[in-house]
Amino acid sequence: RHQDRDRGGEVNVQVLLRCRPLNDDEQRLNIPKVISCNEQRREITVLQSIANKQVDRAFTFDKVFGPKAQQRSIYDHAISPIVNEVLEGFNCTVFAYGQTGTGKTYTMEGGMKTKGGELSAEAGVIPRAVRQIFDTLEAQKSDYSMKVTFLELYNEEITDLLAPEDCTRSVDDKQKKPISLMEDGKGGVIVRGLEEEVVYSAIEIYSLLERGSSKRRTVDTLLNKHSSRSHAVFSITIHVKDATIGDEELIKCGKLNLVDLAGSENILRSGSREGRAREAGEINKSLLTLGRVINALVEHSAHIPYRDSKLTRLLRDSLGGKTKTCIIATISPSLHCLEETLSTLDYACRAK
Ligand code: ADP
Ligand code: MG
Repeated sequence: RHQDRDRGGEVNVQVLLRCRPLNDDEQRLNIPKVISCNEQRREITVLQSIANKQVDRAFTFDKVFGPKAQQRSIYDHAISPIVNEVLEGFNCTVFAYGQTGTGKTYTMEGGMKTKGGELSAEAGVIPRAVRQIFDTLEAQKSDYSMKVTFLELYNEEITDLLAPEDCTRSVDDKQKKPISLMEDGKGGVIVRGLEEEVVYSAIEIYSLLERGSSKRRTVDTLLNKHSSRSHAVFSITIHVKDATIGDEELIKCGKLNLVDLAGSENILRSGSREGRAREAGEINKSLLTLGRVINALVEHSAHIPYRDSKLTRLLRDSLGGKTKTCIIATISPSLHCLEETLSTLDYACRAK
């Protein structure tokens, strides 16, 4: 309960920037590149010329990964230390934030298919984190237990991506088991009706992940723009037996949330568009509130508006206080996306 007051002004929010390469279509069409990445200087430059004058803008982040950065390098440099914190009993969250098509899902999931438990070079943050967690616990010969949940948040409604398939129901069936959030009175939240899978091996988690993400892809082909408007939240809770003192067992409990956010083009910026966007149901309350919560945390505001959206209620015990948060902002290098890229860079800069 005193965690918030004890944190001594330190907020652990790390912001990384990843710029994807131009894709085949963009290359074929000779779309100009407007982003230059300097990984050493942790800097992104937006190359812009207005009325024949070069007006470049530079943005600095905690880390910058250019188009050539490999999945493994991002994981080893930025995520692996966070996973170690989780194993030490802390709650941590990694978000992928950015415009649709810039690599959020690639960064978080990547190639999740494994050959006999071996990760491919394309494997993203989630499978790599799972691997590190099991490798570490097994090397330490720890006594541990682990459970995972995988859910999706769409229009402020939660869907369980791990729920057993029921072929008799259609995706938009209103009769599906309702999932609700309830405060547990200790700063956390209980998600009622959500499957918690107890897992014993990395391979088991990989197959759950595969099931959950293929469910997401299926819905995507049925409902237009579904995945660009929904958030996917994968969480691992780990209990590790630390020591036994007398007949009392000391248990370290850590939680890791890996979140593939809705496309940032769905966030609302200009006030004038608000009325129209609300009618069209386009306001992404959770994405908007997440931005406000992170700003409030970095600015040490007295009031953190966790309660204003499902996503922030869900992640409340893993945002702020003694937790670590990492935002991976993803952008495209192409001229096409310039406006959205600038808005992602602004958002990511504000979160620092
Ligand atoms: P988002 O989830 O943000 O909508 P995706 O992850 O689906 O975007 O990426 C869009 C496409 O670009 C996919 O085909 C993906 O494989 C590819 N892609 C994204 N980032 C990279 C990258 N860093 N390197 C290679 N391909 C990438
Ligand atoms: Mg995606």
